[in-house]
Order: sequence, then structure tokens, then C-alpha cells
Amino acid sequence: MNESKTVKADLSKLQFIKGIGPQRAAALNKEGIFEPAGLLFYFPRGYIDRNTITTIRALAVKLRQENLFEDDAENNSYFLRSEITVVGKVIDIKDHRFGKNRKMAKITVSDTSGGKADLIFWSYSDYYINNFHIGDLLSVSGSPEVNNFSGRVIFNQPELERLDENDEQLYSSGQIIPVYRITQALKSAHFNSRQLRGIIHRIIDEEINRLEEILPDYILEYFKLPDLKSSVKSLHFPESPEEIEKSKRRMKFSEIFMFELNVALRRRGIKMSEHSVVIQQKSPRARTLYESLPFELTGDQKKVLREISEDMKSGKPMNRLLQGDVGSGKTIVAILTMLVAIDSGFQTAFMAPTELLAEQHYSSLMSYLEDTGINIIQLVGGQRAKMRRNILSSIASGEANIIVGTHAMFESEIQYNKLGFVVIDEQHRFGVAQRATLKVLAEKSFDEKGISPHILVMSATPIPRTLSMTVYGDLDVSIINEMPKNRKPIKTSVVFESQLEACYKFIRKQIGEGRQVFIVYPLVEKSEKLELKAATEHYERLSKEVFPDLKCGLLHGQMFWYEKDETMKAFLNKGYNILVATTVIEVGIDIPNATVMLIENAERFGLSQLHQLRGRVGRSDIQSHCILVTHDKYRKYFMRGSSSDLEEKAAVLRLKTMQDTTDGFRIAEVDLKLRGPGDVLGTQQSGLPPFKFIDLARDGDIITSARKSAFSIIERDPHLRAVENQSLRKELVKQIKGGSNYFDIA
Ligand code: ADP
Ligand code: MG
Repeated sequence: MNESKTVKADLSKLQFIKGIGPQRAAALNKEGIFEPAGLLFYFPRGYIDRNTITTIRALAVKLRQENLFEDDAENNSYFLRSEITVVGKVIDIKDHRFGKNRKMAKITVSDTSGGKADLIFWSYSDYYINNFHIGDLLSVSGSPEVNNFSGRVIFNQPELERLDENDEQLYSSGQIIPVYRITQALKSAHFNSRQLRGIIHRIIDEEINRLEEILPDYILEYFKLPDLKSSVKSLHFPESPEEIEKSKRRMKFSEIFMFELNVALRRRGIKMSEHSVVIQQKSPRARTLYESLPFELTGDQKKVLREISEDMKSGKPMNRLLQGDVGSGKTIVAILTMLVAIDSGFQTAFMAPTELLAEQHYSSLMSYLEDTGINIIQLVGGQRAKMRRNILSSIASGEANIIVGTHAMFESEIQYNKLGFVVIDEQHRFGVAQRATLKVLAEKSFDEKGISPHILVMSATPIPRTLSMTVYGDLDVSIINEMPKNRKPIKTSVVFESQLEACYKFIRKQIGEGRQVFIVYPLVEKSEKLELKAATEHYERLSKEVFPDLKCGLLHGQMFWYEKDETMKAFLNKGYNILVATTVIEVGIDIPNATVMLIENAERFGLSQLHQLRGRVGRSDIQSHCILVTHDKYRKYFMRGSSSDLEEKAAVLRLKTMQDTTDGFRIAEVDLKLRGPGDVLGTQQSGLPPFKFIDLARDGDIITSARKSAFSIIERDPHLRAVENQSLRKELVKQIKGGSNYFDIA
């Protein structure tokens, strides 16, 4: 009730601004702008500045010279993500028809350099034909390509902005012109960028006086940041490119700073208020296992064990992320820690994202812990009612020492018994909320109130540091960088389909030496039925035509979990020479004797997926190989390295990266640049807010300094009582009231 009232009031205020009116006010509403001040925070998406804009001719040269591989990951952003703007006059407009329904508009522009660019529109082609005219001066933004034959620069579906005479004058006199994003809603209300600029220009001086600075002076001074008012003003009406940069930096800083302040507060809150069971380090069974391991733990594994034990005896709950690349040996760290907890009298839980992985953990636990008297129980979906009842009762009685399972472990009916230690494997597959649920279940498992469990989450998804600091902001981080000593780096090669025969020969040779092989291919079919058909057909071909004399197994997503398990187990026990599989083997499975991973249509996979798949081999002291098979048509790009198709460019870059490095963190960084953090983590899963200014992939330095500063402020002034911190306190309270305190979910 109240809410709709305020919205109405603001709406009316908005609509009385000259040039707005009720219809346009409603459109602005849709963009989240409810009051005049909201317009100030609708920042330009770009700027037109004669002094920095590239000419079309220079752009063509640059695009022609650009070599995908020399530029490498550091610079790939230039052509894969960032927007390029040129300004030119329309010299030609044409529409082309293809068959009955396909229509394309082509607008050709030319600039003072004499260079020409074609702007191609497949959607809304009529709109472009009707709304633009020869002689119009346009700013064109998008990611351009160059036609290798004609040398013409091409923009596909770029953003256009028409500059009127007034703009033209500003432009030629060297003034910077802001350009606003005109969404579909704004378009329908007949807004264009110029009008929006005019309106903002009219209100800015009055509205800006109402803005209150959030950051204390000492922070602004220390980081040399401009204040809020002048930053906002500069972003709309900048005098120079430097001013834009400084103001952007300030907005980024305050955005991430407030976020990190929340993290710091929450972290401190947990540390101060929660307590956990004290777990003694004396554990006869952990010692026995440690001494009987067939290998020596790496230095990093030992270091992590020490970090964990410090946490566990502190009386405060551990919330620790263990990051380590695939095959770095995280599992044994978790197992040793579970033994310590069990010997201190607590139940432990080990959660995996898939049933297959839960099963593998279950069997490795069984073999490690044989004859220790430790009772291990598996809890997954789809177990029979009677079996499930038995399982649940042994969990409740405390008879079960270790519960290994999947999402089934979250169900609220499960009564744990003194669940003191929880391990979550492959954390990126779970959400923040799920971690919280398990925590609540653990808290209920103690008679005494207010005891939180120790939690260890493990991840093999190498997340660039800046991201993990933000996403897992409330966790302490341990890292295993060192691989077990016996490992040989996997040899990776990209091959083309016409070379498959040679690959098959190589595979035979490996199998002749007693090794086993994965052959993975992507699923492109949407429907389950077709998927099944594709999987089966591929398998038939390989097993009947290519390798009729060898034993091939098939693993795909449509199998029941126990069928997958059986197949996997058979493969582990060398019942198959070759396992033909879809990506279901992606996560965590350990088959040390498998030494070849052949991935077909490798260009279809994402980088982190490829890295995970490759991690299925190279898990012993035998030399392993990863073969990435792709179309012959990509061959030329590996020689010269330029495709005009962005998708293809990205695909080649992925393959090239895989070939060049096995370093998971480097791979993750390239992945992040190619896809952006939303896709890498799934924004929803990660629990991250939608940042407006900060770019998690690129603003590492800003994130780091904002975080340091936020944490040290909270350490010195945990309740933000100091006079100089009052603006921070006020802003935090506002955020919490506005429901944007992202860390209050747990
Ligand atoms: P991940 O970190 O990917 O989960 P795992 O824990 O599955 O890796 O370990 C991969 C393999 O390496 C397992 O077979 C494990 O027994 C073995 N392993 C773990 N630590 C060592 C070590 N220090 N030396 C040799 N092998 C090890
Ligand atoms: Mg693992």
C-alpha cells in the first residue's frame, strides 16, 4: 500500500519536469527511475569525443592487423567485448531481401578520413530504413569486423545515435557528448538520447545539491577520489576524458567499497557472535590413516591441514574455502579432517553435487577407512523408502559417523546428530542458500542452542582471486597450488577432424599399453529423446566400426544414477578400454589409469568445462594426453588467427588457451574475460548483487584496495561509531532498509 503511494507521488514529481509528462514518466519508471534524482544516476553508456574517437580508416587498419594470438588473453578484450565508436555521415541506405521473410538493412557511413563502414541490421530493418536518411551524422557503437576482401569495416546491429546540427557543432568544436542507453521502453515513449541529455542538463544543478556524500573525507583524500557531486556531474557533462575516468573510478570504488563493508561486518559478526564445537587435534584414527597413505602429502596439503586445525580448535565456526585445481588432492584433506572431528565425538557430512561423485567419495572413504570402525552412510535421492528410513534413523541416533550424499542431505526432515563438521565438494555447483540450509540443519543437531558447524567448501573451479574474494567474501580461503609430485603435465593438442584416424591409432597404442581412454562429445540436441539417440549413435559407430575389437562403455545424462555408477565402476575396474561419454563425467571423478581424454567438437565447450574434462586424466605418474578435436575450417585460424565471426574467434581462443596452459587460474581469467562473471558463476548462484559500475573481471585493483580499506575500518570501528564514519553508517542502514544487504540471506 505504502509503496504504491510513494511511487505515485514520485511519478507525479517526475512527470512535471519539462519534457517528460505522464507517458514518459511511466517509461522512466520501467527503468527504475522514480524521482528526479534518479535521472542523475542514469549514466551515459558512452561518450562521443572527436579527440579520442578512432577514424574508420584507422579502425580498418587495426582490424586487419589484429592477430588473435599475438594479442593473446591480455588483450583479447579489445575485439571480444569492448565497444568501439565511430562517427560518420550516411552516404547510402539499402534494403536487401532474402527469400520471402528475411530482410536486411544496410546503412553505409563515411567519415572525414574517407573510410567507409557498413552497418548491417537484420532485426527491425524497417525501422532503420525509415528513420535514417542520407546526410545524417551518426555515432555508431558496436564491435566491428573487417571484410578481408573488400577491406570494408562492418558493424552488425550497432547502436546508433543521430547527431543534430547543434551536436555536430559541439562535436566539431571538440566537446564531449554523452550518449544514453535508450531501451525499448524509452524508445516507445519517444525518448532519444539527446532529449534525455537535455532534461538532465536542466535539472542537474538543482538536484545535485540534494546528493549526500557517502565516502568519508579521509577516504576520498587517501585514494584521491573526486566527491560524489562532482563525479555525477562529470559523468553527464565531462570536460575531458580524464575527468570521465576519474569519476568512473570513484563510482566503482564506492560501489564495491559499500559491498565490502557489508562483507567485513558480516564476517566480524560471525566471528564475534557465533560459536562452534572445539575439535581436539588428537585423533588416533587420523594419525593411522596419515601414516598408511601410499604417498606423502604435498606441502600445500599440510599447510591447509594446519589452517583448518587452527580454525577448528578456536571455538569459532570455521567457514573456509579450499581452492585447488583438479587433481590437486583436496579429498584426502577433507577425509583426514573428518577423522579428527569424529574422534572428537562429532558427526560429519560430505556433500557432492552429483550422485556419481557422491558414490566415488563413498567408495574411496570405504577403502581408506576399512577396519577403523567408522560407519559411513550414503544418502542420495531415489533410495527405497525402507532403506531410507534405516538411513535416517542411523543418522538421527548418531550411529552414522560420516554421511556422504547429494542435495538429498538438505531435506528438512533429516535429523542429524551433533553434526560438527560439514564438507561441501565442488561448491560452485551449490548456491549460497544451500550452504545456509545445511548450517541450520547442523545447528538443530545439537541439544545446546547456538552452536554452528565447521564448514569446509572445496572448489576446483579456479576462480580469479578478485572474484573469489567478492563471491566468497565471508569465507577464509586456503589454496593448494602445488600438485602431487608424481604428476606429469598433461600434453594437450588441437587436431582437426580430418586427422581423426591418426588419433584413433594413437588411442589404440595407448590401450595396447594397458591404458584407458575417455571419448567425450557435446550434446547439442535440446530434447532428451534426441540426446539419447545422438549418444547411442555415436557410441554404436565407435564401438562397431572404429574399435570393434575393444571394449567400449557408454555414459550419458539420461541414464539412471545407478546405471551411471555401474558403468563408471566397470570402467574403474578396467572392464572397458574406452568410455564414450557426454559431459556427465565432468566433475570430480578419479580414474588414475585413464590417460587419454579425446574431446570431439571441442569448440562447443566452454573453457572451464574443457579444463574440468581434461582434469579427468593426468591423475597418476603416467603421461596423459588431451586431444581437442575440431572442424577443419578452424585450421586456417590457427595459422593466421583471424575470423570475422566473434563466436569463432572465441572458440579458437578457447582451444588455443587450452593448448598453451594447464594453469587453472590463467584459464579462469581468460574465461572470465570471454564470458563475464555472470556466466562464469551464474550471478544468481553466487549471490552477488548486480553491480552497476564495477567490472569484476577487470577492476581487480579497485576491488583489492576497497576491500582492504573496508576491512581495516571495520576492525578499528566495528560499529561505525566514529564521527568520521557516520556517512558510511547512514548509507549502510539505507541499504539494509532497501533490502540490498546481500549478506543478510544466510
Ligand atoms: P581433487 O582435488 O581434484 O578433488 P583428488 O582429491 O580427487 O583431487 O585427488 C586426485 C588423486 O590424487 C587421487 O587419486 C588421490 O589419491 C591422489 N593424491 C592426493 N594427494 C596426493 C599426493 N600428495 N601425492 C600423490 N597422489 C595424491
Ligand atoms: Mg574432487
